[in-house]
Amino acid sequence: MPERQIYLLSPRELSPETIAVAFAKTSRSPESFREIAQSLTDEASARFHERWVIGYGHASVAEHAVLHIAIENVSRLAIEAIESNRLASYTEKSTRYQKWGPEDFILPPELENHPLRDEFIETVQLLFSTYAASLEPVRQVVAQQFPRRQEESDEAWDRRIRSRYVDVCRFLLPTAAVANVGMTVNARELEHAIRKFLSHPLAEVRAIGEQIKEAAQAETPTLIKYAEAVPSLAQTREALEQAASTLDLPPATAETDFCTLVDYDRAGEETVLAAALYRFGEMPFDQALTYVQHRSPEERLGLVQALLGNLESPHDIPLRELEYCSYTFDLIMDQGAYAEFKRHRMMTQTPQRLTTRLGYAIPRLIEEAGLRPQYESALQRAAQVYEKLAAWNPHVAQYVVPNGFYRRVLARFNLRNAYHFCRLRSAPNAHFSIRKIAERIAEEIRRVHPALSAFMFLPDETWQEVDANHFTR
Ligand SMILES: Cc1cc2nc3c(=O)[nH]c(=O)nc-3n(C[C@H](O)[C@H](O)[C@H](O)COP(=O)(O)OP(=O)(O)OC[C@H]3O[C@@H](n4cnc5c(N)ncnc54)[C@H](O)[C@@H]3O)c2cc1C
Repeated sequence: MPERQIYLLSPRELSPETIAVAFAKTSRSPESFREIAQSLTDEASARFHERWVIGYGHASVAEHAVLHIAIENVSRLAIEAIESNRLASYTEKSTRYQKWGPEDFILPPELENHPLRDEFIETVQLLFSTYAASLEPVRQVVAQQFPRRQEESDEAWDRRIRSRYVDVCRFLLPTAAVANVGMTVNARELEHAIRKFLSHPLAEVRAIGEQIKEAAQAETPTLIKYAEAVPSLAQTREALEQAASTLDLPPATAETDFCTLVDYDRAGEETVLAAALYRFGEMPFDQALTYVQHRSPEERLGLVQALLGNLESPHDIPLRELEYCSYTFDLIMDQGAYAEFKRHRMMTQTPQRLTTRLGYAIPRLIEEAGLRPQYESALQRAAQVYEKLAAWNPHVAQYVVPNGFYRRVLARFNLRNAYHFCRLRSAPNAHFSIRKIAERIAEEIRRVHPALSAFMFLPDETWQEVDANHFTR
């Protein structure tokens, strides 16, 4: 009998494209991966990819070629476009643990020779200087609430309380602020991402697309060679922007509820329980469903207990059958919270363009530090300049909007994802803005599916407490 072998095809010895071919060839070749790899050259791999991946569309082969792309000094608005590619991994500079310097922003290329250029720069500089000036006063309020421990050094004390004051000052940072992001991605997803970048309405994102393509071609010369702009993406966007702009609706307002459960699977509980029985049984699905539908409430609770009752810690992931129950939420959250929300790749998310028209949040610590007039004045200035910019180009206008402003996002996700999101983002170390969203989402799900959501084991805190403790409005 052949002996089991498990080993790595190391990227230190083989290029990503060669590794991809070595895996692809196992489909037709009886040889070991090692033997296949030894017979390959970079040129032979390129010919293989031209023929099979590009020519015949066997695109999944490109998923075996993985790149690690370092992207530096791009705006946080551009990072939204980068991170909208869900089949990739990212880590970016944190607005919670790092501070921004006065020049850490970009001038959007569209504004280079534009009459609003100077006003844009002045407004962003005002936001940055208000941000910088708020750090110490807010830190002092936090320091009183969390005094230095005996034997604790100044550095250790600052490390312990830093996220609490930086968390609050970050509301002033506009999306023009730059950050670094590391991206790990396979060549199939990267080709798709580059096509989207090159078709993007922002010049910065299109330039990033060109630069990523150029950098990636050093490692994967064949697999992303044909990544070009997709005209239909821009055409679709323009057609829908036009359609949406002609709707005769009242102006946007934040006076609505920040969390609306628009839709959910009304039979979600039955479907999930039936799917769980189906997994371990031998019956057709409709029999499993009929069985569940005819159970008494106590019997159903017994099934729920069997499905979820063994989860012991937030790291225990419930079975995949929870994915048969979905929820659609219309959410309004501040831009800082959205920057974190968007990282949840398994959800379907539809953010609206960032504007200043839904108003802004005021963190309680800003008020307690005596900074409310400066804070509101800076945000109101940003709103004035936003309107001027939006009248010319609403995409570019987003760059001037600080994290404190609200944004709408439609999100659809399943119960398994809801478990993950609500547990992670309502934890005590999560930012209060996203904690409020996570706790409210959990409340809505508990309302419609009390049995299935009973095992989320969230902290006792309510979203109303987060609101009262951290915001003045
Ligand atoms: C305390 C804290 C601090 C953070 N600090 C930073 C920071 O400084 N910088 C930063 O960039 N981000 C930071 N994040 C964000 C974090 O890295 C995640 O991107 C974010 O929480 C989304 O979580 P997720 O990847 O688990 O969720 P989702 O994208 O919603 O995915 C759900 C689950 O699917 C699985 N999954 C999805 N995609 C993959 C994949 N490609 N490979 C393997 N499994 C996958 C995982 O099990 C994952 O938990 C922080 C998060 C927390 C909670």
